[in-house]
Amino acid sequence: MSVVRVARVERGSVAAALGIAPGTEFLSVNGRRVTDFLDWEFLTADDELVIEARQPDGEAVVYEVERGEGEPMGVELEPPTVRQCANRCEFCFIEGLPPGLRRPLYLRDDDYRLSFAYGNFATLSNVRDRDVRRILEYRLSPLYVSVHATPPAVRRVLLNNPKVPDIVEQLEELAKGGIQFHCQMVIVPGINDGPVLEQSLTDLWRLGDAVPTVAIVPVGLTQFSHLYTGRSMDRDAAQALLGVTGRWAARAQAERETAWVFGSDELYLLAGEPLPDAHHYGDYAQIENGVGSVTMLRERVARGRSTLPRHDGRRIGVVTGTAMAPLMPELLDAIRSSTGATFELIPMVNSLFGPTTTTAGLLVGADIAGALTGRVDLDLALIPAESINERGEFLDDARFTDVRSSLPMPVLPSYDFIDVLR
Ligand code: SF4
Repeated sequence: MSVVRVARVERGSVAAALGIAPGTEFLSVNGRRVTDFLDWEFLTADDELVIEARQPDGEAVVYEVERGEGEPMGVELEPPTVRQCANRCEFCFIEGLPPGLRRPLYLRDDDYRLSFAYGNFATLSNVRDRDVRRILEYRLSPLYVSVHATPPAVRRVLLNNPKVPDIVEQLEELAKGGIQFHCQMVIVPGINDGPVLEQSLTDLWRLGDAVPTVAIVPVGLTQFSHLYTGRSMDRDAAQALLGVTGRWAARAQAERETAWVFGSDELYLLAGEPLPDAHHYGDYAQIENGVGSVTMLRERVARGRSTLPRHDGRRIGVVTGTAMAPLMPELLDAIRSSTGATFELIPMVNSLFGPTTTTAGLLVGADIAGALTGRVDLDLALIPAESINERGEFLDDARFTDVRSSLPMPVLPSYDFIDVLR
């Protein structure tokens, strides 16, 4: 049974006043068992609480809480035990990781709770009746769902799992309770494009408001994707997918005033077609899924460049992945004309994942060091901020501070240039 344990208590908070300490385990709230962070979050929404707990020394304790409306408890829980994935998709990114990385990177999560809390995509293939009741009771909406294909037989092939339930039936049941789904379809050429894609979009369209967005994402492989037996995505296949996407988006604009189905940025880059403008993406609901990131970057640069100070004469290196490299000159030219700085674009092939992994955010510490070692001619270097996690580590375990101190120029992680040049 999973334990809900306190990691941190905020000073001066309700929890601190009660004497709740790190290590305290919560057992029930107002008579209902607490099994995970969701129970804690939702059961403590009341202002009057009776909390059964076990203190770090094992002693049982009951806290009676009366607090002001909306006053937070002030506890941070230990990270939840993640529900692991029971599928074995051939295109799984985790299966395409090189060996030897830190262990948490190999964790394949498929957890509707993280889908709600953090926007992680889940397949719902391991959701049980109790989970459905919780999703409905706690109104866990929107969820981010990896649909891939709605015909059950095709979906079972894609997820490599013969026990996968019918996703349309699952979504229909949850939609009746008011749950919405941002869906994604990772497309494997020859399996879930063509008629399967048409059928899938038709099924999702029928769900109406319950499905506000669908992302079409080309299958992405690394040189370590050892399970994959399918075709890789090429320019023709990407253009065909954009054709389908465009047709459905035009219908959705006419009938629902939203594009509804969106090609990922990578799909446009593979197809060699221009990316849509900001209007197309609405509220960028799937930006974390690589849908609209380039357009948002262009918008930020266009809006922010007039606010930048002059950097006349500074020579600035910009490290990026090979996918973004062709789009960068236009952005850097605009910033150059506002700041007077000189930019040198430094595209890097990913040394860890191989040349098919072109995303800037997956560059590793060795790539950054390789790009910038000995470059005494640069006054500053900008690197993709997405390549560093919250603990300051790259995917190859190199620490940003170590990489930075080994280089001859100041190095700044940047999301959009404006954030660091301002
Ligand atoms: S659902 Fe498929 S892609 Fe996602 S973690 Fe599981 S095996 Fe990997």
